[in-house]
Amino acid sequence: MKEYKSFFKTVAGNEGSKCHYPTRLDTYGCGCFHDCKYCYAKSLLDFRGLWHPEDPAVADLEKIKRRLDKIPAGTVLRLGGMTDCFQPCELKYKRTLETIQEMNRRGIGYLIVTKSHIVANDEYVGTMDRELAHIQITVTTTDDQRSLEYEKASTPSLRIKAIEKLQENGYDVALRLSPYIEEYIDFNILNNVQCDKILIEFLRVNCFIQKWFEIDYGKYTLKHGGYLHLPLEEKQRMLERITGFKQVSVCDDVDEHYEFFRDNFNPNPKDCCNLG
Ligand code: SF4
Repeated sequence: MKEYKSFFKTVAGNEGSKCHYPTRLDTYGCGCFHDCKYCYAKSLLDFRGLWHPEDPAVADLEKIKRRLDKIPAGTVLRLGGMTDCFQPCELKYKRTLETIQEMNRRGIGYLIVTKSHIVANDEYVGTMDRELAHIQITVTTTDDQRSLEYEKASTPSLRIKAIEKLQENGYDVALRLSPYIEEYIDFNILNNVQCDKILIEFLRVNCFIQKWFEIDYGKYTLKHGGYLHLPLEEKQRMLERITGFKQVSVCDDVDEHYEFFRDNFNPNPKDCCNLG
């Protein structure tokens, strides 16, 4: 087992300045079994021979504990910012489970972002503290077959079951529709998910992304930060199709759009993740 040494990082720049939870703790790194074709981490590491999806490196628990000792209670860290902390190797190594137990002991909050249903296994439901845990399960399509074309994570239907189980068990959980690609969504399925919250991120497009999704890129006409984005009016139109959730929040990295959603749309203007 290889050790993952860069497990703790605070994101800076455009993304870090907008994000309320820019500090990340990754229990696994240098690979993610889900191996999504569009993965940002993969795009950075693969061409240097540093991406090992079948055999990710594992962070050292003693080092994690020492790092957590320096963090004040009440802070919220993002678990799984760079790679998925609930990829299948978690069932073998349990590093995420152990990290959650350490965070519970210190009163440190955790924002889990995952594409795996494992987070809702009984072992985790029995361990995660309802005051400290915030869980976002990412869904990119409602079509199980389609998801297999570009990611090896749990099928969307398993992810949706996991969301509903966590909601039933009283956790602060959101469906993270990221990226929101209208053509990939059956709104009858999406709007019937039994979950109060949804968080939306729209697709942003560059040459790398264009290879993986079969959609009309002609609508992405707005240039910002090296990507092409949908115009604000198009984003607003797409949001009208999301009708099944009590709280809808948008995370956006186009400056004007970020300000628009913060001031006019999001339930919590100070926090687009809208944690409870
Ligand atoms: S789950 Fe996240 S980290 Fe893992 S391959 Fe997919 S995009 Fe990358």
